[in-house]
Amino acid sequence: MAASTSNQVILKKYQDLDQKGSIMAEYIWIDAEGNVRSKSRTLALKKEGYQPQDLPVWNFDGSSTGQAPGDNSVDFEDVYLRPVAVFPDPFRLHDNILVLTECWMSDGTPNKFNYRHECAKIMEAHKDKKPWFGLEQEYTLLDLNDRPFGWPQAGFPAPQGPYYCGVGAGKVVQRDIVEAHYKACLYAGVKISGTNAEVMPAQWEYQVGPCEGIEMGDHLWLARFLLSRVAEEFGAKVSVDPKPMPGDWNGAGLHSNFSSEEMRVEGGMKHIEAAIKKLEGRHLEHIAVYGEGNEKRLTGRHETGSIDKFTYGVADRGSSIRIPRESAAKGYGYFEDRRPASNADPYRVTLALMETIFA
Ligand code: ADP
Ligand code: MN
Ligand code: MN
Ligand code: MN
Repeated sequence: MAASTSNQVILKKYQDLDQKGSIMAEYIWIDAEGNVRSKSRTLALKKEGYQPQDLPVWNFDGSSTGQAPGDNSVDFEDVYLRPVAVFPDPFRLHDNILVLTECWMSDGTPNKFNYRHECAKIMEAHKDKKPWFGLEQEYTLLDLNDRPFGWPQAGFPAPQGPYYCGVGAGKVVQRDIVEAHYKACLYAGVKISGTNAEVMPAQWEYQVGPCEGIEMGDHLWLARFLLSRVAEEFGAKVSVDPKPMPGDWNGAGLHSNFSSEEMRVEGGMKHIEAAIKKLEGRHLEHIAVYGEGNEKRLTGRHETGSIDKFTYGVADRGSSIRIPRESAAKGYGYFEDRRPASNADPYRVTLALMETIFA
């Protein structure tokens, strides 16, 4: 349940209490289903702040999250949390921190659901290309009965049209969540670049980027964590279902914008075109890692391309890959892969792009 307003006011009294030389560190990880989980621990305050390598490895019971191998040889198995990125905590403020971690097994191998490890390797191998990503995270806000906010209990809202970038009652809902999340991201140092109301009522988007290399996945996962935490306070659920409402309603995606250094300078279009040719040859490999249930979304309607056909075009929102009109006009810039679903893992999406374009 959402904390009541009076709870929030009372909690605020404790916000500024002296922590007597200790800080709270919230360790965050990604579970088997692509949800974030987290738990807290106390650490000694360090004047110069913590770097990932200064932070202790921690652990959790992997069988409680579906992340243990499940060979039944043991009742429970610890999974280890290795810190990879540190951010200021916008909820606890002061010197308290959020710690993004990777999941590892006791035998020193990455956990099955640790997609960051491979992603970080390929980013390191091709860092001379200076790969930039910008991801557009679409999502839907649901009440505790899984109904999108503002939708009538029975029946449907008026057809799509007034909602996209809408302003005013009856057009958008839960803007407070969007605003609080935006501020929380800025405080934490997440490279959020914007936000807008989406085409389906109760659907919103925020963009993170441009980020270079592994920073893309790290910042998007932290933005997802922050949104879940903010929405929790408002009693709202965040859905990243790529087709939350069947019928004539837009789905939700994770459009992935990409450029390498050579694409961003004069003559860059030939590098963009070469990348698109490579992507065409590996369409199915990409679809395989671009999210669950994406076949319900990629129908060729509602501003999507069809799941079984690779297409591209300038300023074409009905294609798999779109070259923004401005990039086409200048002859360099970036391209947008419109295929990833809203529930895709950014580590898997950015890894697939790097593998296809550079490996
Ligand atoms: P759309 O018109 O598809 O809705 P948005 O404005 O929502 O586009 O998102 C565009 C994204 O592209 C942003 O995240 C932005 O940071 C990113 N972006 C801009 N320039 C580049 C670039 N050169 N390389 C990679 N990403 C970029
Ligand atoms: Mn967008
Ligand atoms: Mn959008
Ligand atoms: Mn887009």
